[in-house]
Amino acid sequence: MIHDPISAARDTLERVWGHADFRGLQASVVAEVLAGRDVLAVLPTGGGKSVCYQIPALIRPGLGLVISPLIALMTDQVEALKQQGVRAARLDSGLSLDERSGVLRAARSGDLDLLYVSPEGLQSGALLDRLADLPLALIAIDEAHCVSQWGHDFRPDYRTLGRLGQLFPGVPRIAVTATADARTRDDILASLHLDGAAVFVDSFARPNLQLSAVRKESASRAKTDAHVIELVRARKGQSGVVYCGSRDGCERVADALKSAGTNAIAYHAGMAGPERDRRLERFLAEDGAVMVATIAFGMGVDKADVRFVIHADPPGSLEAYWQEIGRAGRDGEPADGITLYGPSDIAWTLRRLEGRPMDEAVKAVQTRKARQLFAMLDGATCRAQAVRRYFGETDADVCGVCDICQDPPALHDATVAAQKALAAVQRLGGRYGRGRIVDHLTGKTKDAQPWETGLSTWGIGKDIAPTGWRDVLDHLMFEGLLVEDPNEGKPLVMLGDPERIRAVYRGETRVEVRRTPPGFDASS
Ligand code: ADP
Ligand code: ZN
Repeated sequence: MIHDPISAARDTLERVWGHADFRGLQASVVAEVLAGRDVLAVLPTGGGKSVCYQIPALIRPGLGLVISPLIALMTDQVEALKQQGVRAARLDSGLSLDERSGVLRAARSGDLDLLYVSPEGLQSGALLDRLADLPLALIAIDEAHCVSQWGHDFRPDYRTLGRLGQLFPGVPRIAVTATADARTRDDILASLHLDGAAVFVDSFARPNLQLSAVRKESASRAKTDAHVIELVRARKGQSGVVYCGSRDGCERVADALKSAGTNAIAYHAGMAGPERDRRLERFLAEDGAVMVATIAFGMGVDKADVRFVIHADPPGSLEAYWQEIGRAGRDGEPADGITLYGPSDIAWTLRRLEGRPMDEAVKAVQTRKARQLFAMLDGATCRAQAVRRYFGETDADVCGVCDICQDPPALHDATVAAQKALAAVQRLGGRYGRGRIVDHLTGKTKDAQPWETGLSTWGIGKDIAPTGWRDVLDHLMFEGLLVEDPNEGKPLVMLGDPERIRAVYRGETRVEVRRTPPGFDASS
C-alpha cells in the first residue's frame, strides 16, 4: 500500500478529536505542512484552523511551536488538548519559574508535542536560545493578521516573528488567520518572510447567518439602548452577544437588559482577569446567557449555540465585523447578526483613531477600513456578498436572507454624480485626498490655481453638498471604482478598476446610493 500522509492525518483527526473527516481546506493545508512546506491559511472563524497545525505537529517528529497572542486563549487550547491526551504545554508570564523550567525540561526530553508561547515571550532572546537546538516539527503563527499594519489588529510584538525563518531553517511555518484581505495576506507573507508559501483562502460564506444593519434614528444612547433591549427580548431564551463600543456602554446596556429580565453578563477589560474568567464560564455554561461586551471579549470564544450577535455600536472594520458576527451560529443553525450604526459612530470611530498613538500609515489604513465598513452598512449590496467580495471572493452570490435581499431598499441613481467624481479624480491625477476632491467638485478649493480652475471638473458638483459628495466617494470606494491609497500617511484617492469605471462612464453600470444627500436629486 502506498503511504498516504493524509490518511494518517485523518486517523489522528478521528482518534484525537473524534471528527470523521476534514472539512473545507483543512486537508490541503495539513498535506502541505506535512510535506514540510510553508503555508498561509485564511479560514473563517470556526473553520477549524487549530487542527491544521495541531495534527501535523503530532505526526511530524519534534515539537510543534505555536505562537498565540492571548494567554486566555492559549490556556483554553492547552487544557483542551491535554484532556484529549495530547502532550501540550504553554509558556507564558503566568507561570512560576519552577513551572517554566518544568515545561522546558519536558520540551528538551521530547515529552511534548505542542508548546504554546506568546509573541512577547519569544521577544526575549533567552527563550529562543533554549528552543534553538530542539528538533521542531513546525512553527504555527496563530492570528497571523496581527503581524500586518494593513490588518485590523496590528500588534508590534508580532514583528519579531519575521526572524523565525532564519532562526529555524528548514522548519515549516504555518500562519493562520480568520481575517485577512488580499493586501493583508501579502503583508503577512512579506513580514513573516514566507516566500513561496502556499496560500489557502477558504470561502467566507456563512449561509446560516442572517445579517442586517439598522441605521440609528438619533445619536441618543437611551434610544439605542432601548432598541437593543427590544431586539434581545424578541429573542428570549436565546444565547447571544451584544457588542458595545465602550466599557460604560457595556455596563449600562447589561444593567438595562438585566432589569428587563434577561440573563445578561457584562464583560470588558476593566474587570480583573479572574472576574472575567468567571463571567466567561457563566456565559458558556448557562442557557440563554447574553454577553454584553467590548471587543475585549472574543478571540477564541467557542460557544456553538450563540443565536445572535448584536452590535450596539459598530466595529472598526469589515474584518472585525465578520469576526464578531461569526461568533453566532457556529453550530450551523440559523443565527442573526444585527448591526446598529449611525453617523455619530463613524465620527467617533475616526476621532478615536485620530487620537491613537500610531504610525500615520497605519492610521490611514484603519481609517479606510472603518469607512469601508460604514459604506457596507449604509449600502444596498447583499451583506454577505459584500463581505465576501471584500475578502476577495469576487464571484460570491447574494445570500437571499439578509435585510437587503429580503427587502431591497429604495435607491437613488447617483450615476451622473459618480461620473463627475471619477472624472475629477482622473483630472486631479490621483494626487489628492477625499477632502480636496470634494473641494474641487464644489469649487471651494482655497487659493485654487489657474491649472485647477481651468479643469473641466472644477466646481462641476456645486449642486451637491460636500457631505453628499463624501457619501458618493465612500460608495465608489466600496464598489472598488475608487481606491484610497495611503501615501506617507495621507490617503490619496485614485481610480480603481478601469473596466468598471469605463462601464460607469458609458452609463452601462448604474451607481446607486441609499441616502438622498442635500441637493442630491438635482444632479440626476
Ligand atoms: P477556528 O478556526 O475558529 O480557530 P477551531 O480550530 O477552534 O476554529 O475549530 C472550531 C470548532 O470546529 C472546534 O470545536 C473544532 O473541534 C471543530 N472542528 C475542527 N475541525 C473539524 C472537522 N474537520 N470536523 C468537525 N469539527 C471540526
Ligand atoms: Zn443577502
